[in-house]
Amino acid sequence: MDSETLETFTRLSSSMDRVNWKKSLEAMFVLLHKRFVFDNLVIYVGKGSGNTSEVVFARAVGRGRSREAEAPWGEEIANQVISTGKIVESIPPDQISPDRISKPHLLGLPIILPERRGALVFVRFGGPRFTVEQLPLAALAAVQTARTLEKNILQESLSQLEHARHRAQLQDDFIATISHELHTPLGFIKGYTTSLLRSDTTWDSSTQQEFLTIIDEESDHLLALIDRMLDSARLQSGNMRMDFQPVRLEALLRDVAQRFHARHDDLEVILDLAPAPPILADTIHLTQVFDNLFDNAIKYAPGSKITISLQVNEAWQNVTFADLGPGIPREHIPYLFERFYRVPGQNSKSGTGLGLFICKQIVQAHQGRISVMTTPGKGTIFHIELPLHAEKTEKEV
Ligand code: ATP
Ligand code: MG
Repeated sequence: MDSETLETFTRLSSSMDRVNWKKSLEAMFVLLHKRFVFDNLVIYVGKGSGNTSEVVFARAVGRGRSREAEAPWGEEIANQVISTGKIVESIPPDQISPDRISKPHLLGLPIILPERRGALVFVRFGGPRFTVEQLPLAALAAVQTARTLEKNILQESLSQLEHARHRAQLQDDFIATISHELHTPLGFIKGYTTSLLRSDTTWDSSTQQEFLTIIDEESDHLLALIDRMLDSARLQSGNMRMDFQPVRLEALLRDVAQRFHARHDDLEVILDLAPAPPILADTIHLTQVFDNLFDNAIKYAPGSKITISLQVNEAWQNVTFADLGPGIPREHIPYLFERFYRVPGQNSKSGTGLGLFICKQIVQAHQGRISVMTTPGKGTIFHIELPLHAEKTEKEV
């Protein structure tokens, strides 16, 4: 082995420290390519116990680069390598063709993973053949590939585990929250009904009216809660029908703001709405999004001024919804739009953690995006971008 190959060998052996497995492989193959010529490489991993395999990584570096890099070069040889666990070489028949791409020389090397096998396939279009001297470098690349994939599989299982734990926690929290949310209005309904039914007391008509109004309001509250849960279940399962019609966001935002202002007359709402052309949207669902944001601002930023702005550029209509409340601690931001997620410590405030999940699903059904920016102690801004030209007029999400 010459000294340069030896150096490549050493560098290959220690090239696996990056966090991202694809970047790690890329760096290794760039290094390898300096001493070991190939045009394409493909990594196959066997699927379970069957004889099939799937491509997990493919790169085109030389001739054939213009062709599809992910093309299933060497699938047959990969399956042979996987089933035999041996190095396999395939040389094209000696046909006379000026097209090198039609004459791939293939070298397949086994990749041994825990409970699975794979193959690393190198392609040289039109040769030259792979030589015995070149095999150690290629074999080392296969070993390093196995190490990288193994690390990735381990990381994936860890993050799946973490994900499952997080979901279980959300379900637990949800059951606690929903029991509380159902219990409170039902408690009122039951209490006031029992009072009205008492045979030992007679209530004057204004007291009766007062009790019945509370029962009526609490029943509405329960109905709204159940609707919300049904909506979230439909959105989650993709069964929510959207009815897209031309809508002027400016008018819609004014309506929502007026409605909230009528209900909370001390609410300070500032509208900064640029004139905007109509977009295709589902009015009822989009209204629900802004209702949720208002609800949240009133609940979590009590007494704060709310500023709503609408801006238009060539492709998007951008709505920002800002309050000057306490903000949201940074560590909760990644989970905020998840179903049932509530920032811990909000027990005194009613809620099920469905509002922002519903917002996100609806905005996405409009091919839009929703995000949040928050500064603890200073306030929260929700940002919604809706495309000027959505692709479909009716869609189920
Ligand atoms: P629901 O909307 O179903 O009644 P919820 O309000 O708790 O329940 P989301 O609307 O999804 O659920 O909000 C998730 C969490 O985000 C809330 O529990 C709250 O902690 C936080 N949050 C949302 N909006 C704001 C805001 N404007 N300021 C501070 N915190 C907020
Ligand atoms: Mg909410």
